[in-house]
Formats: sequence, structure tokens, C-alpha cells
Amino acid sequence: MVELVSLTKRFGAHTVLQDINLKVYAGQKVVICGPSGSGKSTLIRCINGLDNIDSGEVIVRDARSGNRYERPSDVRKHVGMVFQSFNLFPHYTVLKNCMLAPMKVSGVDKEQAREIAMKLLNKVRVGNQAEKFPPQLSGGQQQRVAIARALCLNPTVMLFDEPTSALDPEMVKEVLETMVTLATEGMTMLCVTHEMAFARRVADRIVFVDSGKILVDATPEEFFGDAPHPRVRDFLGQVL
Ligand code: ATP
Ligand code: MG
Repeated sequence: MVELVSLTKRFGAHTVLQDINLKVYAGQKVVICGPSGSGKSTLIRCINGLDNIDSGEVIVRDARSGNRYERPSDVRKHVGMVFQSFNLFPHYTVLKNCMLAPMKVSGVDKEQAREIAMKLLNKVRVGNQAEKFPPQLSGGQQQRVAIARALCLNPTVMLFDEPTSALDPEMVKEVLETMVTLATEGMTMLCVTHEMAFARRVADRIVFVDSGKILVDATPEEFFGDAPHPRVRDFLGQVL
């Protein structure tokens, strides 16, 4: 599905990711966590080509056929991304936000785009907000719209970069519930998050990134077990 082979990424002289190797199989849910500045967002951004890599390889495959997407535009088309800050177009309605990409990228017609968008907005329970503009919605609603928008392209993998960290506490739950639903339905997911209860419940693996390297790649049982890596213990002491 997603494979990172010896990935290295620099910003100028600063090596932000160093020799990252990671394999995510179809249907797996991988939670990525680690200290601020450790390279988590960069890692996610390298997967869908928002950041260029300096060496190594990023391989994304179709979950069904196993075929590799060769062109960057194909990778972006099939990889859904949800950001901390929603990134919705404020001057378009919720519905239009969701219809744009399918029409532009996949060439579906307007009626079909509307149908797909409404189906997914209903799925994340914001169908009744379709005609509003994003700034008229709560943060939790906006983030669910952002998830619906990403799903409109029928992605084979979803990437999340701290989707709940900009939300008021009472809205975190509704977004996490949406993500749990997706996970239960078998979506392949890579989530950068510090929501450790979510990680414990949903993750097949938890990857701990520190100073641009994968320090731990473990099951939740191991990760939260009795003998954590000292850096993980420090980290958990801060976020739990
Ligand atoms: P946080 O938990 O705060 O979101 P992070 O783990 O997501 O942190 P990144 O955003 O991936 O960390 O950043 C990793 C390092 O790369 C940091 O030192 C950051 O300053 C640097 N960096 C990120 N983006 C750029 C950029 N566009 N230009 C230069 N340096 C960058
Ligand atoms: Mg980040």
C-alpha cells in the first residue's frame, strides 16, 4: 500500500528525516507520534508528494490491484489528506468544497459529484450543513467536512496530520468517532496524533518518531506495555 524505503529529507543543511523505512499494508492503521519538530508532518507530506524527498523511495499502491501509482498526480489523486487546520475554501459552500476535486481531478459530472458529496457529508453527519460556508460551522463540523471532502475522491489510503489538535475538547470526540468508523470499515490509515486512547483502540501499529528517525514501531500492547523505550516513556508522561 504505502512503502517508504530509506527515505531521507533535508531542509537546507538540516536533515529532517533520516533513513525512514516503513511498510503499511492494505487495511492497516498506523499511528505516528513523537515530539514536536521530530518530522511527523514532513513524513506524511512526503507520502503524497507535498514535500519532495532527497533520497530513498516512496511507493504507493492501489489497495485493490496492488499496482503502483507511478505519476505524482496519481498518488495525490488516490491519497486522501486531512490537516490540523481543515484547509477548506472559506468562500465556497461545504457542498462545493466537496464537489470540486471529483469534478476537476476525476472528471465526474456535476450531478454525480453532488450525489457523492452528499452521501459522504451525510456519512460524517454534516449533510444538513451542506449549503453553509465553512466559517459558519464549528471546528468539529469543519474537520468532518474535510474528511468527507477527502473521501469524495475514493482514496485507497487516508493520511491525517493532527486532525484534532486545533479543536476544542468537546469537538475532539466527534472527529475521532468519524475516524474510528472509517477504521472499522477497513480504510488504510496513517494518523499523526497524540490521542493515545484512539491509538490504543484503533492502531495496528504505533510508530514513534524522534529527531527524524523511527525509534519505535510497535503494537499498542508493546507500546503501552511495561518496558517502553525511555524516550517513549518521557513522551507518554507528557501527553497522557
Ligand atoms: P509538530 O509536532 O510540531 O507538528 P512535526 O513532528 O510535525 O512537529 P515537522 O513539521 O515535520 O515536525 O518538522 C520537522 C523539522 O523540519 C522541524 O525542525 C521544522 O522546523 C523543519 N521544517 C519543516 N518544514 C520546513 C520547511 N518548509 N522549511 C524548513 N524547515 C522545515
Ligand atoms: Mg506536525
